[in-house]
This record gives sequence, C-alpha cells and structure tokens, in this order.
Amino acid sequence: MPRGNCPVCDADIRLGKAGAVYGKRITCPECGATLEVIEEDPLELEEVEYGQRDDLY
Ligand SMILES: [Zn+2]
Repeated sequence: MPRGNCPVCDADIRLGKAGAVYGKRITCPECGATLEVIEEDPLELEEVEYGQRDDLY
C-alpha cells in the first residue's frame, strides 16, 4: 500500500491504490491540510495552497 508523509504535520498517510494517482488530492486526516500527489512512486505529497484548490467538494 502506498504511503507517504504529510508535508505539513509529518503524519503517516496511507493511500489505497486508487488514491495514489498523480494529481489526486486528499485531505490529511491529522491536520486537515489539502494535499496533492506529486509523485506516485515513491509517494510524495505537497500541500495545496488555500485558494488554489479546485471546487471539487
Ligand atoms: Zn497533516
């Protein structure tokens, strides 16, 4: 299972295969930051700046 670290709070983040896709946005379960997958293997996440996020929710 792909796993990475939250760049904001350093929490361990595990994604299912469907979640570890380049450009996929997730929310950190620890700090609530919006993160984007910028690298699939190894999994790397980057914080999405507030205001840049799409209105997907
Ligand atoms: Zn976090």
